[in-house]
Amino acid sequence: MFAYYFNKTLMHIFYGKAALIDYLKSIKTNHSSVGFVPTMGAIHQGHLSLMQQSMQENEITVASIFVNPTQFNNPEDLAKYPRTLEEDIKKIGDLSRKIIVFAPPIDAIYEGKPSAQLFDFDGLENLMEGKFRPGHFNGVGTIVKRLFEIVEPTNAYFGEKDFQQLQIVKKMVEKNNMNVNVKGCPIYRETNNLAMSSRNELLSPKEKKDASLIYKTLVGAKAKFKKNSAESVAKWVQKSFEKNPDFKLEYFQIADEATLLPCLRKNKNKKYRAFIAVFVNNIRLIDTISLN
Ligand code: AMP
Repeated sequence: MFAYYFNKTLMHIFYGKAALIDYLKSIKTNHSSVGFVPTMGAIHQGHLSLMQQSMQENEITVASIFVNPTQFNNPEDLAKYPRTLEEDIKKIGDLSRKIIVFAPPIDAIYEGKPSAQLFDFDGLENLMEGKFRPGHFNGVGTIVKRLFEIVEPTNAYFGEKDFQQLQIVKKMVEKNNMNVNVKGCPIYRETNNLAMSSRNELLSPKEKKDASLIYKTLVGAKAKFKKNSAESVAKWVQKSFEKNPDFKLEYFQIADEATLLPCLRKNKNKKYRAFIAVFVNNIRLIDTISLN
């Protein structure tokens, strides 16, 4: 354990998994519930809102900070991912010194060269993010499963910003009969409504300002979907981005919230959601909005 004094208050920060497991055993009682918030660091208000919810609902909260190499299909993306551990610990400490931080080095999670386990998520892994980032969800499944085995959480908190990831984690828990409640939490946004993301730090102030187009387009798509087909809404979105050469639309998809399958014909009994991935000067941003 690394005892980190933050304004004279001790915070518990662990780098090794055995030390974390021992410590959790020593503080857990039969009644205590453990809330867990896995992150890749570069902590922002979105992450902190998940931790806040966990603090409200559990006696113990653990937050992990680990940039997981096996979920990056693009080595350049992994190399430039922001790593700001000292600042992250300060931000978490500002929210609550009681939050236990787990920040393992790579070799505490992976033996030798990091590699992902193969998962079957009943096809959820092949759509949208899975289609454009091959192998991404095997990496996500691998890290989340390993972290769950270490922390043994009662409740685990995931952001709806990564809605497909949330559904994938729920599927993994269901298929493997894991004893964890997976909870989805609302998207936290910047003042211009850009979904908060660690990747936003890589944008210039102008790019960040202009990136408000993403949410604006989602809101426009939501309004249009009331009277139009998913296909015609998608065409409208494509056109909106074509007009803006600073953006490269990777995909826009209206899908069934439960199955994530594309909406071919509207069914009023189903819940739909729009999903978008856009490059702003090589920085890949995603967002999503519920449509009905
Ligand atoms: P990341 O560090 O990007 O892997 O995110 C860690 C967790 O925080 C994931 O469950 C994300 O979905 C969640 N998260 C990231 N950004 C936001 C946001 N803007 N609002 C709510 N949750 C978020």
